Amino acid sequence: MFEKILIANRGEIALRVLRACREMGIRTVAVHSEADADAKYVKLADESVCIGPAASAQSYLNVPRIIAAAEVTDAEAIHPGYGFLSENADFAERVESSGFVFIGPRPDTIRLMGDKVSAKQAMIEAGVPCVPGSGGALSDDPKEIVKTARAIGYPVIIKAAGGGGGRGMRVVHTEGALLTAVTTTRTEAGAAFGNPTVYMEKFLENPRHVEIQVLADQHGNAVYLGERDCSMQRRHQKVIEEAPAPGIDRKLIAKVGESCVDACKRIGYRGAGTFEFLYENNEFYFIEMNTRVQVEHPVTELITGIDIVQEQIRVAAGEKLRFKQKDVVLRGHSMECRINAEDPFKFTPSPGKINQWHTPGGPGIRVDSHVFSGYTVPPHYDSMIGKVIAYGDTREQAIRRLRVALSEMVVDGIKTNIPLHQDLLADANFVAGGTSIHYLEHKLAGKS
Ligand code: ADP
Repeated sequence: MFEKILIANRGEIALRVLRACREMGIRTVAVHSEADADAKYVKLADESVCIGPAASAQSYLNVPRIIAAAEVTDAEAIHPGYGFLSENADFAERVESSGFVFIGPRPDTIRLMGDKVSAKQAMIEAGVPCVPGSGGALSDDPKEIVKTARAIGYPVIIKAAGGGGGRGMRVVHTEGALLTAVTTTRTEAGAAFGNPTVYMEKFLENPRHVEIQVLADQHGNAVYLGERDCSMQRRHQKVIEEAPAPGIDRKLIAKVGESCVDACKRIGYRGAGTFEFLYENNEFYFIEMNTRVQVEHPVTELITGIDIVQEQIRVAAGEKLRFKQKDVVLRGHSMECRINAEDPFKFTPSPGKINQWHTPGGPGIRVDSHVFSGYTVPPHYDSMIGKVIAYGDTREQAIRRLRVALSEMVVDGIKTNIPLHQDLLADANFVAGGTSIHYLEHKLAGKS
């Protein structure tokens, strides 16, 4: 096992990784920007290194500084968390060529899955169900483009191969709008992602977002840890996540989960990963793979009893997975609310000093947050300041526990989206389960 790990991230995930390391007896190095110098997890780490000013481009995305920090502290491995450099194949390559272990998949796997056209191709070959589409990059020939769209059937969605974060996509409802949409998406994709390649998919009108968590070691073993439903989204950003996904046939999930495990074995996947799907009319359609730990990993941890971050570290150190598929047993229900420093209904960021921070507790409540009373939320980063996660024997119990937890929570000094969560946890349609990815936006627009 590693003796020392450098954590190349900030906020709640830096603290989450730090806790995993401490529990495993691994020493830690926290790297931080000038804006995060007073963070508590920085003080809890065995060593800390300031890697630059507040702006992420000069600190959390500053590869030479992070590598230098690993060198001077003699760390053996680097955990990238999520966001920042976690899905950057060039960074993973630099980490490995500098003699450190990257806690994540091999650089070429990150590259393969980071290009959505090659990712989809690999999934089709592995038998993972995909959204019907152009089956590769879209042709330059206008006649071919029109033919492809007709074969798929309108509406279609044009997507950038290099897209991410919900950007680089355009929905087309009629043939008249098709070619302009393709040209515009290509131009935008070239400018934003340095890759003008686009592809076409059937646009699903009312799907849910359901994803499969996988874990794979370096010895050819892989398992799936059930699924998560993350349909409650605004602008493609997840707001509430839960596991299991309500009302989906377990046999169908097992079939899709097994196809994800097969895909992992085929591509030589290592570490934790997530296959994201749209789910509509009892069918799963792969959209992309995230080659890192996700924000919503705790809901899976609570229903499986498996510590995903510790398993990431173990397989990165070369250990074999300690369980087989039959040992992965889902129990109960878990739901997570992402707490953001923002206006609950206008969504404008609300950074600043938190005078009082009181977190809930009690049976089945877990709070993952780096915040404390007196902490100042810096304006430079993502607005998420923590997660409140509930576990219950049933979905109803998890919801009841979340309601109680949020009613106890005190965040004084800044605005948070807790009132939005309270609205959603009282929403009859959400409580019934199975709302689509458009539900929240429709609700906010006063349409549902
Ligand atoms: P990103 O990497 O930018 O997150 P994804 O491929 O995961 O891109 O798609 C993001 C979101 O866009 C999905 O969660 C879904 O809301 C919507 N979307 C993507 N593809 C389709 C599709 N074929 N039909 C309907 N919605 C889609």
